[in-house]
Amino acid sequence: MIQTSKLAFCYPGGTPIAFPDIDVAQGTVVLLSGPSGCGKSTWLALVAGLVKPSAGTLTIAGQSVASLGGVAADAWRASNIGFLPQKLHLSAALTVAQNLAMAQWAAGQAEDLQRIAVTLEALGVADLGHRKPSQLSGGQAQRVALARAVLLKPKVILADEPTASLDDESAAGAVQLLVQTARQQDATLVIATHDGRVAPLIPARQDGQSGFAALQLVRQATGVLA
Ligand code: ADP
Ligand code: MG
Repeated sequence: MIQTSKLAFCYPGGTPIAFPDIDVAQGTVVLLSGPSGCGKSTWLALVAGLVKPSAGTLTIAGQSVASLGGVAADAWRASNIGFLPQKLHLSAALTVAQNLAMAQWAAGQAEDLQRIAVTLEALGVADLGHRKPSQLSGGQAQRVALARAVLLKPKVILADEPTASLDDESAAGAVQLLVQTARQQDATLVIATHDGRVAPLIPARQDGQSGFAALQLVRQATGVLA
C-alpha cells in the first residue's frame, strides 16, 4: 500500500538522505524510528507528497505520488493523507468545528457538520466543537488535530512525534488512540518517533502477530570529516 524503492531526498545544499525500501499492506501500523535528524519528518513529507523525491519511487495504493502536480496533488493529499503534525497547526481564530470544516473545504467537499460531530465524538471530544484552540488542554488539542486528520477517512495516517512532551500515561493514551482509530478505519498508520516508549505501547494484532512493521532509519552521514 506504501511502496518505496531506492527513495532519496536532498535538501538544497545538503547531503542526500537515502531511505530503506518498504512495502506494507493496507492497514499496517508502521513504526518509523531513528535518532533526531535522521530523516523521519522528511520521509513523512515525501509520503504526503509535500516534497518530491530526488531519486527512487514511491507509490501509495498504486498512485505514484511524485507524478501528481498542482491542484491534483492537493486534492489527492486532502482525501488520502491524514497528517498529525508535531506542531498541531490548529487555526487559533477558528473554533474546533471550523478547524475540521477546513479539512472538508480543502478536499473540495461541502461542510458536513454531522460528520464533524461524529468524528469528534469518536475521539472523546464531542463537547469541544465550539471552543477555540487556546481553550483546550494539550491532550485535547492533540485529539482535535487527530480528528481533523481522520475526518475524511484517509487511507494513510501520518503522525510525527505524537508522544513528544507527553508524560508516560498520556503517551500511552495517544498511541492507543492512534492505533485504535487507524484499525477502525482500516487505514495505514505511520508513527514517526525517536521515543523508545512507543514500540512496546503498540498493541499486538488480534491474530497475535506483531502490531507493527518497523522502518528504522540510521543517523545520516554529515559529509563533514572529523
Ligand atoms: P527527523 O525528523 O528524523 O528528526 P528531519 O527529516 O527533520 O529528521 O531532518 C533530516 C535532515 O534534514 C537533518 O539533517 C535536518 O537538519 C535536515 N533538514 C530538515 N529540514 C530541512 C530544511 N528545510 N532545509 C535543509 N535541511 C533540512
Ligand atoms: Mg522530525
